Amino acid sequence: ETSATLAEFDGNGTTADGHLVPLLANVGGAKDAVAAAGLGAQGVGLFRTEFCFLERDTEPSVDEQAAAYKAVFDAFPGKKVVLRTLDAGADKPLPFLTDATEPNPALGVRGYRTDFTTPGVLERQLEAIARAASGSEADVWVMAPMISTAAEAGRFASLCAAAGIQTPGVMVEVPSAALTAATVLREVGFASLGTNDLTQYAMAADRQLGPLAELNTPWQPAVLRLVQLTVEGSAMEGNNKPVGVCGEAAADPALAVVLTGLGVTTLSMTARSLAAVGTVLKTVTLEQAQELARLALSAPSATEARDWVRAKLPVLEELG
Ligand code: PEP
Ligand code: MG
Repeated sequence: ETSATLAEFDGNGTTADGHLVPLLANVGGAKDAVAAAGLGAQGVGLFRTEFCFLERDTEPSVDEQAAAYKAVFDAFPGKKVVLRTLDAGADKPLPFLTDATEPNPALGVRGYRTDFTTPGVLERQLEAIARAASGSEADVWVMAPMISTAAEAGRFASLCAAAGIQTPGVMVEVPSAALTAATVLREVGFASLGTNDLTQYAMAADRQLGPLAELNTPWQPAVLRLVQLTVEGSAMEGNNKPVGVCGEAAADPALAVVLTGLGVTTLSMTARSLAAVGTVLKTVTLEQAQELARLALSAPSATEARDWVRAKLPVLEELG
């Protein structure tokens, strides 16, 4: 019975044989964070800070930012909170950072790239994050969105260090970053795969266009291969830096199993998916998850990848 199965979820992400995969929440502010903590999230894997300031046409002050960030940190004392610096542009324009007249916003000045055109905003945000983190009990990690090269990752790490932040990371959501993960991860302490944008850019399919939905799914074997390359790149460094997933892919229980099999270390998702993902993960061993990952990678299409994997996970029927 579905509700009974879900009720058994105790907040821990683990396979049947005890391989731990912490399940974290994606949040946009304090209200989400409090709700996520109540639903069993073991921390935050993606705090989308731009969501705090979507209505603003001027840059929020350092004090104002620090208060907004601390309110999220305070929902997870002693737990990990991965904050993402402002990801303005494309589907999330911020009037004080983005140029509304760009012809190709998804390929334009967005995310970390706004530092090219509006220097200072990132430094001030890092100052606010450092201040909020020092006044809180959360284990705060900080990552930059839309990193394309190892050089960008290195510069971001330097800016973090200058602000007193010792836990810099990057989102891997541009195919170039996945393909060069070994060198990118030499510069920073962790990576988080943003499968929404990684899919959009790998498939050259605008994530906001309904008619492209069949192309725009993280079940595409090409996207799964990029995930695999990122994990392999992190292992190549010899120190196995954590590689999580914070795109919508992590919220699909069958895909969460595949991602676990590919070797990702944490899964971050909308909090309402935590119980289903945790329930399904518990029904497979790590070896079975690895087998399902190989199966998905070998599929000729996203539809077959999904169907083949789902057919091997009978628990999904109970979840409906
Ligand atoms: C992603 O791109 O997968 C992601 C998590 O970030 P966003 O959806 O906010 O672009
Ligand atoms: Mg993204």
